[in-house]
Amino acid sequence: MVKLDPFANATQQVNDACDVLGIKDRGLREYLAIPNKVLRVKIPVKMDNGQIRIFTGFRSQHNNDRGPYKGGIRYFNPEGGVEYMEREVMALSSWMTWKCAIVDIPLGGGKGGIFVNPKTDKLSDAELERLTRGFAFKISEIIGPGKDIPAPDVYTTGREMTQIMDTYNKLHGNISTPGVITGKPLSMGGSLARNVATGLGVAYCVREAAKAIKLNLKGAKVVLQGFGNASTFAGEYLEKMGSKVIAVSDSKGSISIPNGAKVSKLLEFKTKTGSVVGFPGSKKISTEELLTTKCDILVPGALENQINAKIAQNLKCKIIAEAANGPTLPEADPIIFKKKILVIPDILANSGGVCISYLEWVQNNMGYYWTFDEVANKMEGNITKGFKDAYAMANKHKIDMRRATMALAVSRVVEAFNQKGIWP
Ligand code: NAD
Repeated sequence: MVKLDPFANATQQVNDACDVLGIKDRGLREYLAIPNKVLRVKIPVKMDNGQIRIFTGFRSQHNNDRGPYKGGIRYFNPEGGVEYMEREVMALSSWMTWKCAIVDIPLGGGKGGIFVNPKTDKLSDAELERLTRGFAFKISEIIGPGKDIPAPDVYTTGREMTQIMDTYNKLHGNISTPGVITGKPLSMGGSLARNVATGLGVAYCVREAAKAIKLNLKGAKVVLQGFGNASTFAGEYLEKMGSKVIAVSDSKGSISIPNGAKVSKLLEFKTKTGSVVGFPGSKKISTEELLTTKCDILVPGALENQINAKIAQNLKCKIIAEAANGPTLPEADPIIFKKKILVIPDILANSGGVCISYLEWVQNNMGYYWTFDEVANKMEGNITKGFKDAYAMANKHKIDMRRATMALAVSRVVEAFNQKGIWP
């Protein structure tokens, strides 16, 4: 039985955006909410012990009105089981559509994955490769550089992307098609700046938000929840813009560092000891204390469902930059809006990753590769404009940034849909 329904949540957000835009047509609302196609495949794999094991995989293609589907492939086994996973990838593919639209890249939304946890299922590298290639074979007809371009997601890396690309190429007469997938290693046609993309994008958004509320980033105080890929690079780039990190957390706990600490020193300490907890000059605090620390910029960059109504009441920041996906519960949004805290919603704040994925695909398609700065500058253009457009929408309709961002993204897809019309 499906208990939580992420797809119902995604549908609700589309309907809310339609309300803002005055879209009443039920057919159009359904068209915008429901994926164009959800492919469910059976993947038989010969295990190392000679037995056959059957896995289930999905690819949800939500909307391609603005360009080929784009989105990650995750290897995961959510608690709700296979049925839940199907609803989850449908929802995630919907969010990809809006994420691509908000930063105005010519791609649509897709998502997929296999119901498996490579860690707890203890698959050997060889089994994992057979599974990945088996999945690539099953979805090979619906992916392609002009159709659907997958990318890494939970528990998948450049290694799996290379195996999917190689399988696709072999199935197509050994053609070289690096643009069939992104998130590849550099030697396989990956892009520079992919590793820093999400954090850098967060920092660009914060810079624009600070301009909008006239906050000087020189000396601005930053709190980071999480100290992984997204949040450390967000911290590093915000530091380069003049801010300082005064509290941080990881899976082992949270710390406050009243005088601030260099991100590089925190990283060095975490690499040595396995956690930021215990950093010299810091004090251990609770998660709630971390999130409600008096600061200028709060970056929830670890997990979903962190900011509830109670925490929202006690927030003491000016900007929230959602580096993580879904860190704020819907119940908290109206409270945060009332407190005049500027939220940069996840689909905008963490869109740096998909922007660079898009640029990887562009480089692959033209067979010419840009420098780090060229890629970062192009991404900066997309994200900065995305923020400005969403902020203007929020002011125009006097709504919060989350609803404004979604409404703007939906309006862009509707515009493309109206240009094309329905065929046949
Ligand atoms: P990551 O695995 O690199 O880092 C996650 C961090 O969260 C780690 O430092 C971990 O210690 C910390 N953490 C785990 N449990 C915690 C807890 N209870 N309290 C505080 N910290 C905790 O992951 P990531 O790639 O940085 O992703 C983080 C979030 O950003 C996720 O929501 C992800 O979906 C989102 N995101 C990441 C990217 C990307 O390109 N990395 C792109 C878009 C969205």
